[in-house]
Amino acid sequence: RRRSSSSLRGRAKRARRSVEVPGSGRAGGSVGCPPPGAPAPPPAPHLFSDPAEIEALRGNLLAWYDRCKRDLPWRTLVRGVWVSEIMLQQTQVATVIDYYNRWMQKWPTLQALAQASLEEVNELWAGLGYYSRGKRLQEAARKVRWCWGVGGVSKALCSLWVGAGSHLPCLAGAASCWHKATGVVDGNVIRVLCRLRCIGADSSSPPVIDRLWDMANTLVDRSRPGDFNQALMELGATVCVPKAPLCGECPVKQHCRARRRVSGEGAVPDVEDCGKCVGGCPLCPPATEPWDSSLGVTNFPRKAAKKQPRVVKTATCVLERRGCHGAPEYLIVQRPNSGLLAGLWEFPSLLLAQGLQEEKQQEALADHLQAWMGWPVAAGDLQLIGEVVHIFSHIHQTYVVYSLPLDGDVTLDPASSPSRWVTEEEFHASAVSTAMKKVLGDTWAFPSFPLGSSPQPLSPSTPSSGHRLLRDGTFHVWDHRRAVLR
Ligand code: SF4
Repeated sequence: RRRSSSSLRGRAKRARRSVEVPGSGRAGGSVGCPPPGAPAPPPAPHLFSDPAEIEALRGNLLAWYDRCKRDLPWRTLVRGVWVSEIMLQQTQVATVIDYYNRWMQKWPTLQALAQASLEEVNELWAGLGYYSRGKRLQEAARKVRWCWGVGGVSKALCSLWVGAGSHLPCLAGAASCWHKATGVVDGNVIRVLCRLRCIGADSSSPPVIDRLWDMANTLVDRSRPGDFNQALMELGATVCVPKAPLCGECPVKQHCRARRRVSGEGAVPDVEDCGKCVGGCPLCPPATEPWDSSLGVTNFPRKAAKKQPRVVKTATCVLERRGCHGAPEYLIVQRPNSGLLAGLWEFPSLLLAQGLQEEKQQEALADHLQAWMGWPVAAGDLQLIGEVVHIFSHIHQTYVVYSLPLDGDVTLDPASSPSRWVTEEEFHASAVSTAMKKVLGDTWAFPSFPLGSSPQPLSPSTPSSGHRLLRDGTFHVWDHRRAVLR
């Protein structure tokens, strides 16, 4: 979901647009052919152009929201809406609640958050994924504090853009909290609006996103913008869900053209009736992917096929020593402050070149450790534990895990990357990624098993968040049996 800065600027501009009055201008104009040279308005079937219908939709949606909204901890606090909206990007409500409560407890004010260190933010965020979100929240808190002093609410509000990153809904959501009549467009809203108005073109394309912003700004209730935006998102999260929407219970079903098309209630213009003026409708499904009656309303929305994730292989080494009370300690190093997993801690790791043979991988890792620690490391001393696969949004990452037990005290060159020895407990309290927790789990689960000799082979198709790929090609679970094997 990264976007170029020009795209971000474009979206910011769109968010600042004044709300258009239905029936006038781009958002609600007539559907006849435009004068020569003027941009074509979207075809009527994709618009909300009837003020009476808009009023009815607002009323129905808000009444439903007042009756049925979920009791979520961030409903009543402006700062809470902002924090939660950032946490909820690509993340389920059930996962977010615990993180949200801990976050708000630790930093009860913007000032407290502004004074936090990135290390503290990363520690609290560990396991939630998309780590740049936490960093952006903290940067935004610092900026808001400053803007508040020099420019008041609106300038401070604009500075939330830093925290929103590519997630403009956060900005719009916060705007709504401050009673700005600004619409919201997030994943849930995209789904609802595309269904309400049969928008079947790629819903992630800029022209469609533009239209959706226009539509959201047209629909937003002028007297209760915050509640209306929350209601639209709530509808997408609980009723108009991706796979099996509950159309029978939907408070806006009478305004939904996708449902009307499926049920045959009332006429819905065909694709051919759209965009006659400009030779094709930019909002209808493409001719190559027409309406599929087996999908019903879930024909909408549609997205362009996802790009295949980049395949990456990394060798990582769990260096272990006995601590002062005989308990194992592990060496972790800090990643650079920018890029993937910025500022997080991990076991010493080395990105591997494509197609490198296992023996060469081991040698490369030994050289890397040697250069970093300043004393000889023999490739043969590295014990191969197995592989841990972790899927990031755009990267298919395979960690080839090695272990290296060390005797005695090991001092590290302070000039190399920040590093420290941690106990198991400290490791889990540190800002480490879920992938690194899998790596350590794998190492614990098979502390001294010769490769290929573990019991209970598992089919590769068995769902498991962590698995071990053995040399003979079989997989073994590590997490469920950890306690027995230790
Ligand atoms: Fe979504 Fe069905 Fe409601 Fe239409 S009627 S908005 S498809 S839940």
